[in-house]
Amino acid sequence: MPEKNPARPASFSELSQLLMSLDNLLVSCMRCGLCQAVCPVYGSTFREADVTRGKISLLENLAHETIKDAKSVNERLNRCLLCGSCQANCPSGVNVMEIFIKARSFVAAYLGLSFVKKLIFRRLLTHPRLFNLATNLSGFFQKPFLKRVNATVGSYRAPLLTPFLGNRHVPSFPGHSFTGRRGALNKPAGQSKLKVALFPGCVPDKLFDRLSEATLKILDFHGVGVFTPNDLVCCGIPALASGDSQGFLGLTGQNLTSLSRSSFDYLVTPCATCAANIKENWPRFMDRYLDWEKKLVVGLSPKTMDITQFLVSILKVDFTPATTKAGAQVVTYHDSCHLKKSLGVSAQPRAIIKSLPDYRLVEMPEADRCCGHGGSFNLFHYDLSREIGQRKRANIVSVKPSLVATGCPACMTQLMDMLSQNNDQIAVKHVVELYADSLGAAATRRAS
Ligand code: SF4
Ligand code: SF4
Repeated sequence: MPEKNPARPASFSELSQLLMSLDNLLVSCMRCGLCQAVCPVYGSTFREADVTRGKISLLENLAHETIKDAKSVNERLNRCLLCGSCQANCPSGVNVMEIFIKARSFVAAYLGLSFVKKLIFRRLLTHPRLFNLATNLSGFFQKPFLKRVNATVGSYRAPLLTPFLGNRHVPSFPGHSFTGRRGALNKPAGQSKLKVALFPGCVPDKLFDRLSEATLKILDFHGVGVFTPNDLVCCGIPALASGDSQGFLGLTGQNLTSLSRSSFDYLVTPCATCAANIKENWPRFMDRYLDWEKKLVVGLSPKTMDITQFLVSILKVDFTPATTKAGAQVVTYHDSCHLKKSLGVSAQPRAIIKSLPDYRLVEMPEADRCCGHGGSFNLFHYDLSREIGQRKRANIVSVKPSLVATGCPACMTQLMDMLSQNNDQIAVKHVVELYADSLGAAATRRAS
């Protein structure tokens, strides 16, 4: 039977041995330095230790015991958005994500995880009712703390919470979650003859529940059956990014148990990060799953996809480009790293936008450059995250849109923060919102 929670490396030489298991991946880096041109962190700091090549060097030295300071290597490893830009552009095909994710898990296991992280990843996130209660209460008690700063963006400041939030401009909690309000869903396939598992993910469930509602409306409209158990938990990416493979596997195991209760043709989500994580990272720890989990993970990976990919590539909805209406809103599109670089999805959301006569798509420069959010990167390296985000903001405003659309709720929070801090009057929406809004008017649109 596989060992889900193997013992922590007890000594530095045990850590080195674990890192040596990545040696064949580490040596595939030719040190060409081409990753410098695409790495958003290096683009801000110009420090070699912040770019892929520098991190790979540090890991090799740690694996070969040339250096022994695991703590400082860990700090360097964490100065990374896990955006995948380096991997997508590496001429040697270095499997950077495999290296970084496994190395983070080895080093974090050796150094130990903080009490707060353990509490969040292994207690709060594993209890969906408790997590829902916590976010619902945040919605209830947030009012006295929030000061609305930009109605177009929909952002707030929380001066009394500056020690926790800094000067971020944030969205507010709706006070209810999608799964809490809708309960478990299990609708049979309609005219499409397809049924999907709708995986809302934490942010589209608890913060931007409107994205899950829009996705459900779209699926209903196209006669797609929907299965959403009400005990799904976080996809595990925050735990994995912090190196907590034990917490990650605990969450994955709970999700697999929930998803095993019904059959479905595809797993879809409006969260690019969840889609990429389920597809690419759940199978990364195959040697640590139980046999029944392994089978499910192997089956799930190829049928997991972003909602726009499902609509365009599987359902084959007619998204013929429309003639833009007079007075149409100018919209620009930001490619989420997880959507474009991990899943290869960039044409589909654009096809949807171009089919909507109320919008005129104008491409911004560097549309696929990372927005700088990176999940926990934004929490722990906010100054750097903001610097990277301001470049994205400058690219957005350069095409004078009234709206920026994207496919990832984490990117949405970053774009809102960056635009709001500059008092830009530009709304931030997910592509599913634009499409769902159009459905009332386009009643003849049907899956072909
Ligand atoms: S682009 Fe690839 S091969 Fe070149 S230095 Fe970066 S990771 Fe190494
Ligand atoms: S994953 Fe992104 S942030 Fe991290 S090293 Fe690669 S390009 Fe830089």
